[in-house]
Amino acid sequence: MILLKSPREVQQMLHPGEIVAGAHHRVREILRPGITTGEIDREVERYIREKGGRPAFKGYRGFPAAVCISVDFEVVHGIPGRRVLGDGEIVGVDIGVKAGGFYGDAAQTLPVGKASAEAEGLLRVTREALYLGIESARAGNRVGDISHAIQTHVEDAGFSVVRDLVGHGIGRSMHEDPRVPNFGMPGEGPELKAGMVLAIEPMVNAGAHEIEMLDDGWTVVTRDRSPSAHFEHSVAVTEDGPVILTEGAVPAA
Ligand code: MG
Repeated sequence: MILLKSPREVQQMLHPGEIVAGAHHRVREILRPGITTGEIDREVERYIREKGGRPAFKGYRGFPAAVCISVDFEVVHGIPGRRVLGDGEIVGVDIGVKAGGFYGDAAQTLPVGKASAEAEGLLRVTREALYLGIESARAGNRVGDISHAIQTHVEDAGFSVVRDLVGHGIGRSMHEDPRVPNFGMPGEGPELKAGMVLAIEPMVNAGAHEIEMLDDGWTVVTRDRSPSAHFEHSVAVTEDGPVILTEGAVPAA
């Protein structure tokens, strides 16, 4: 069942959304070769709590950290720890926050130091695919219009979208209906209505789309060990078009 939010509830969702945005800004400030993923996790958790939020992933089905940090061929749900980030790696950072009864969820993938031209291309195309998906999040369209916009852009660039993991509705729960796949056909799936809030999140592999899970029970990796990127925003469908709730008022990197 898809839960529609009132305009007032959409406004309230800006609160966790701005904390998510600020936390991502903080990650861009501190990321450098030599930092550990655990240090990023601790700083993000400190920031979220200072702003009055709660890290939504911590303890979620037993997840042991505040932030999901996924490096290179890790797709999503990587567990931060002692790993030292090296120059040229790419690091996906996924941050969820609960504040004022609502959730916000967003992800970005960043180069550590100087990444290869190939890696930069993967990041650029994945980010562009997210924004093309957001552009399609309009009342009267269907979920498949978002999916198709993302898939087409990714595949035109020679990359592949992950099939086994999808975006989702978000609100008073972190995961609500509908599912928002990163592949599909225009005009298919549920109709988009004002008041829907969607976490749109392309996961894009440089190689094939297949994924598998590591023995830690969390970390999702590409089966062919090709690099993978992930960008996500929580987006409200409104009468005036899509509104990104997790972009915040902070300056872009
Ligand atoms: Mg999500």
